[in-house]
Amino acid sequence: MPGLLKLLDQLTLSILPFKSAIRSYQTYNISYTSRRIWNFIKIFISMHLSRISRRQIVWGFPPLLMVEPTNICNLKCPMCPSGNGDMARSKGKLDPDHFKKVMDTIGDYIFQVQFWNQGEPFINKSLLEMVRYAKTKGLMTLTSTNGHYIRTDAMAEEVIASGLDHIIFSMDGTNQETYEKYRVGGDYNLVIETLGRLSRAKEKLNSKTPLIELQFLVFKHNQSEIDNLIQIAKNHKVNRIAFKSVQVYSADQAEEYLPDSDDLIRYNYNGQSVAVKWKIKNWCRRLWMNSTINWDGSVSPCCFDKDAEYAFGNIFDNQVTFSDIWRNQKYMKFRKAVMKDRKSIGMCTNCTEGMEEPYARIVEIDDL
Ligand code: SF4
Repeated sequence: MPGLLKLLDQLTLSILPFKSAIRSYQTYNISYTSRRIWNFIKIFISMHLSRISRRQIVWGFPPLLMVEPTNICNLKCPMCPSGNGDMARSKGKLDPDHFKKVMDTIGDYIFQVQFWNQGEPFINKSLLEMVRYAKTKGLMTLTSTNGHYIRTDAMAEEVIASGLDHIIFSMDGTNQETYEKYRVGGDYNLVIETLGRLSRAKEKLNSKTPLIELQFLVFKHNQSEIDNLIQIAKNHKVNRIAFKSVQVYSADQAEEYLPDSDDLIRYNYNGQSVAVKWKIKNWCRRLWMNSTINWDGSVSPCCFDKDAEYAFGNIFDNQVTFSDIWRNQKYMKFRKAVMKDRKSIGMCTNCTEGMEEPYARIVEIDDL
């Protein structure tokens, strides 16, 4: 039975345990059209054929598209390139008309749009317009926010009315002091107010969506607040908490941030060097199942490509379609490079792909 559960967990292709995934799909409003299902079958089969044959076979589109509303952020989180100033690419906001054009070409094939990458999505004032458009296509829509921009009841109701299926709040503390240690410049009380505002609006409009999730990066400085967070989540009618292990880039950061519990750390750290715990295989599911469109139209392999260093083309170039980029030589060469020697690509040695254990522990508040 535990073996079967583990297999089912892996089938969700995400950090979610099977049970949570089912619960999510029962909550979301998605159109399961035959075109969408057939696309999924094609890409799923071609992904596995590629893995077995060690060739790059790509049929269909990625079911999951990450779209970056903006790479601008109001906070200065020390390990985020958007907040700490390390990001070299130019800053800007996604034009909703460009987004609609992309949806008009592939929206009928894909399942899910994740409205985030780098930056705070709500800084783009057109975020909800884009969500609404994606919902007209019957897509599952998600966003992830630091919770500083839903400032009125009317705005909370607009979020609900947009049809957004899932919203993640990054909240790594249960008081201003611990919260702002990482969310530098953030206002803890404002986030708490926003949570309450959104929950009330859901009740008022009698809506099951968006599913509200708190994402708590477990650091050394907040590890003692886990029970407290669960209580806060219950009080604010949050649906789910994801206690997520942190990504660090150096031994110094490991020393400063990693918590004590080995369960909540994804690295082996010996005081000198830091490396992911699991064996890195020459493989990446995301090169078939996901793709990332940055605010300026550049198409990256995944969210770990913070500076669009590996971008395969620009979707806003009138001469090309997403389909052209998805199968172009650059994308295929990248797939080949990962399948040949993933460790030769810097970002691919410090990402979550292929982790044996999920990188977040999920707590469903309704089950408590
Ligand atoms: S960084 Fe990870 S997820 Fe991204 S392409 Fe490389 S292996 Fe895949």
